[in-house]
Amino acid sequence: MNAPQPSRRDFIRIAGIAVGTSALTAGTQATAEDKPASRDLDAVLKGLLDGNARYVAGQPQQRARTPADFATDAKGQAPLAAIVGCADSRVPPELIFDQGVGDLFVCRAAGNLVSGTGAIVKGSLEFAVAELGVQLIMVLGHSQCGAVAAAIEHIDAKDALPGAIGPLIDLIKPAVLAAQGRPGNKLDNVIRANVERCVARVKGTGPILSRAVDAGKLKVIGGVYELSTGKVEIVA
Ligand SMILES: [Zn+2]
Repeated sequence: MNAPQPSRRDFIRIAGIAVGTSALTAGTQATAEDKPASRDLDAVLKGLLDGNARYVAGQPQQRARTPADFATDAKGQAPLAAIVGCADSRVPPELIFDQGVGDLFVCRAAGNLVSGTGAIVKGSLEFAVAELGVQLIMVLGHSQCGAVAAAIEHIDAKDALPGAIGPLIDLIKPAVLAAQGRPGNKLDNVIRANVERCVARVKGTGPILSRAVDAGKLKVIGGVYELSTGKVEIVA
């Protein structure tokens, strides 16, 4: 973790982007300079899946959650990966991957949405990639997702859902259509289709994310968390 850190500058040069976010990175300079030049993404993913295996087995290490870790955390962040997850209370990424504080950069919204979330999720992921050196993004759906179930239930409904729930659910409806004709459980199929669509959206979101993917500096994958077992399956 003490290697020089050309990756962010290299990335910005490759991307042709001058990201003027120095104010956002205040307090992160020390760690930014300590970032590895490039992570072994296979090892990062293996670390997440190994952590999930510990969680499934009921044997978490609960890394980096002690007072001794807090001072280190305060100096800056260099997360291993970014997770786009559902807001569902049963799918907390740090716990299900058995990661410590500072290990994961997490964006959560109902339905693990990327499309239609505007600058909130997009800008967060761009910040993670361009400023924090994140090279792996996982979109993480889960079984029995209420937001996806609502999109299926209301796909043809004319009745308006209250508040902003309707517009939120509308963002998932294209996944309902994409999953039509697939064999098997409809809800599971739409959950997977929604993850696939979100992965594609992240990969195709310019200028920062798509260029990073094209330059081989960013890998975007999709997973589904099974509530009944705790296991994450990579599906995209
Ligand atoms: Zn959900």
